Amino acid sequence: MYVDSHCHLSFPELAARIDEIRADMHAAGVDRALCICTTLEEFDDVHRLATSYDNFWASAGVHPDNEDVREPSVDDLVELARKPRVVAIGETGLDYYRLNGRSIADMEWQRERFRVHIRASRMTGKPLVIHTRSASADTLSVLREEGEGSAKGVFHCFTETMEVARAALDLGFYISFSGILTFKTAAELREVARYVPMDRCLIETDSPYLAPVPYRGKTNSPAYVPHVAKQIAELKSVPLQEVASMTSRNFEELFGIPAVAGATP
Ligand SMILES: [Zn+2]
Ligand SMILES: [Zn+2]
Repeated sequence: MYVDSHCHLSFPELAARIDEIRADMHAAGVDRALCICTTLEEFDDVHRLATSYDNFWASAGVHPDNEDVREPSVDDLVELARKPRVVAIGETGLDYYRLNGRSIADMEWQRERFRVHIRASRMTGKPLVIHTRSASADTLSVLREEGEGSAKGVFHCFTETMEVARAALDLGFYISFSGILTFKTAAELREVARYVPMDRCLIETDSPYLAPVPYRGKTNSPAYVPHVAKQIAELKSVPLQEVASMTSRNFEELFGIPAVAGATP
């Protein structure tokens, strides 16, 4: 059985098809998924998925790319994180990919928002789901500063270098690989995946985006997460079964989710 550690089932492309998605997951052996929140406005929809279905969980957070949305306070996040079935803070982090004419200095609001999430994570003990794009040095330095060695979580949809992977692992974080790992152009990332120890790997779809090969360009869904696991199994020359069970166990460990009978050895 597989776990999708990061998906956006509240997004309109997927929200209208939940029954179909759940049937596809079941058929593909994907037994659990973490539904990720990207705005406070969206939280209720994400949370409802987790309270409606016993194999879905939710996060609480505001994505660094989202502007013109409600800015979260530490109290807001702590309050949401304490609701039943909320197991993570995020997704949060830094994204300097689309600066739209601004300088990195102008992005202080993003760094401040990230700090707020780290504080909420430390207060609640719920791990961070970190998004980082074109901003790895600042992501790591804010984490070190604000986390003071006690922040934990996962770098999701990892696309960074070996050096960043090492730094994230040194901080005690997990690394989650998405369908990007199956893309032809991702040779360097496949080296990173070969390097990351199995007991620190997670798998995800980030659906509805980034469908793995052979579905590239289509709407992604949690049912496709086994393709990410297959890629990891090939890279590490380990049985697919082992990737499935280790990534499931890592998911349980990081997010404090009880093991499903028969799902892990
Ligand atoms: Zn992300
Ligand atoms: Zn995401």
